[in-house]
Amino acid sequence: MEAEAILAALIPSWSSVILLTFYLGYLAVAGFILPGRVVPGAILPDGTRLHYRCNGLVSLLMLLALLGTGFYMKWMSPTVIADKGVELLSTTFMFSLFVSLVLYAAGLKSCSQSSSLKAHATGNFIHDWWFGVQLNPHFMGIDLKFFYVRAGMMGWLLINLSLLAKSYVTGTANLSVILYHLFCALYITDYFFFEELMTSTWDIIAERLGFMLVFGDLVFIPFTFSIQGWWLLKNKVELTKVAAIANFLTFIIGYLVFRGANKQKHVFKKNPKAQIWGKPPKVIGGKLLASGYWGIARHCNYLGDLLLALSFSLPCGASSVIPYFYPIYLLILLIWRERRDEARCSQKYKEVWAEYCKMVPWRILPFVY
Ligand code: NDP
Repeated sequence: MEAEAILAALIPSWSSVILLTFYLGYLAVAGFILPGRVVPGAILPDGTRLHYRCNGLVSLLMLLALLGTGFYMKWMSPTVIADKGVELLSTTFMFSLFVSLVLYAAGLKSCSQSSSLKAHATGNFIHDWWFGVQLNPHFMGIDLKFFYVRAGMMGWLLINLSLLAKSYVTGTANLSVILYHLFCALYITDYFFFEELMTSTWDIIAERLGFMLVFGDLVFIPFTFSIQGWWLLKNKVELTKVAAIANFLTFIIGYLVFRGANKQKHVFKKNPKAQIWGKPPKVIGGKLLASGYWGIARHCNYLGDLLLALSFSLPCGASSVIPYFYPIYLLILLIWRERRDEARCSQKYKEVWAEYCKMVPWRILPFVY
């Protein structure tokens, strides 16, 4: 696309506003009415806890069925998202900006003293708008933090499916394209299959909802995690058999470590006596798990996620750094996050955390970091 055309596309169009409105509207209604397990969230400092209806998978399947019907009836084209990429990006960006300003203003007005809704303002506008004022703001009964992360992950899959359709239409689909889309589709579907594990993650339990999270969920996740798909539309990569097998193994190992580690922690939080890898768990101070993946490195789940991220980029070969945006970004993010989490845990668990660090000295990658 010419620079001028890109600039013109940056102005949100009515059609992209309508698409985004339908998408978010569908998710709000589906989240409300479709069945799903209601899972208690972490206990908040004031002793209360929120409950999350984990019906992301059924919402996704229903949406795919509706879209499939729409494509079959020729009401819309499967390449609509790929065709409107930049317009949709700018529309979603504007929306995130608007929402984060509303959250900031509403958060400051909050008089509630509950952990979820209490206003945490420093008085510095940029800081409060960026990091958010409230932990768990709600709108019409919807937990907005849980809602936006769902919208972002599902949006990533929808963008990818549209890019895949475009690859077939333009005749660029090959093994690289299929591997990239297959890995991402499995990762995202798995995310929704295990959506309840999300309720004990850092974002949900510790991060306030401000521009950083709203933008991260709605814009950054779907539009930048799909860079490889956009790149493969314009660049042809012929993978050798060995490269494809190595790519597949990276995905499988990454998945096992990522899912295994997150699951072990989740199970441990629910039942600290549950067996880990067939043995009673090693527990420090009655609070921290030090066996299984959590006995190998203090954030083995990050290692798994990094391998997965790498596996999404390997189908693009080594001719350009652009498709490696996601693993590079994730490496920086997870190192930063690990440091922040470490500080939080050290403050929360004190000597118990120090003992854990002694017992498990590696942060993410054993013998390296
Ligand atoms: P974790 O799921 O690792 O959660 C950290 C929390 O777990 C700590 O604050 C502490 O909370 C608890 N904890 C830490 N160590 C132990 C232990 N040994 N035993 C028991 N509890 C422990 O971090 P995140 O929420 O950051 O990440 C969740 C997943 O999401 C990861 O797999 C990560 O890779 C992924 N992720 C992906 C991103 C992406 O952009 N793709 C971005 C961010 C995360 P508590 O106070 O409850 O004990």
